Amino acid sequence: MNKSHYQQAQFLLSVATVSQLPTDEGVEIAIIGRSNAGKSSVLNQLTQNKKLARVSKTPGRTQLINLFALDEQRRLADLPGYGYAKVPPAMKQRWQALIDTYLRDRECLKGLILVMDIRHPLKAFDQAMLKWSSQCNLAVHILLNKADKLTQSAAYKTLRETTTAVSHYANPITIQTFSALKGKGVKELREQLDAWFCY
Ligand code: GDP
Repeated sequence: MNKSHYQQAQFLLSVATVSQLPTDEGVEIAIIGRSNAGKSSVLNQLTQNKKLARVSKTPGRTQLINLFALDEQRRLADLPGYGYAKVPPAMKQRWQALIDTYLRDRECLKGLILVMDIRHPLKAFDQAMLKWSSQCNLAVHILLNKADKLTQSAAYKTLRETTTAVSHYANPITIQTFSALKGKGVKELREQLDAWFCY
């Protein structure tokens, strides 16, 4: 793989509220997914830097927005994932308010990478993210991750079905299959990010 801009990513800071975010300028791309969908593995593949995604897994940081800078004007925002069913309501509300405000108010946010497990696409969490994104007219790029777990034809079938299922949204939505484990789909992901970041 060629060395990419994304390998320059450096941990910037973690924030608990949008008011702590850096000045709203330049371009930010956010990444989100249900826990275990493989968000950290995708970040590892993209940046080729295991240290970065480890930041997001640090106890105490999993509920924060973790920012990684590519340069002065370009950042990746690792949004807190959504855990399994039994989340205390207060935490659920805090999470919802943080994500909702971030998506709604962050002017420099140009796109959202939504990571799903290809075997369980479009769960309630994913539907909520798509709905909020469409309300903000935010572009979304869906990664159907863990494609290595399916045959190629089953993966394409899910790709087609998911594409159809999201076609009613008015905001731009692109979808690809991905395997963070095998490094498959990284080029396509980078092309989408390059377009948003104006590289
Ligand atoms: P996160 O909670 O969304 O950050 O998910 P992780 O990146 O920690 O991944 C959750 C689990 O899925 C780990 O055991 C990973 O090794 C595994 N995983 C992540 N991506 C892939 C993939 O593309 N293929 C397979 N087979 N496993 C994956």
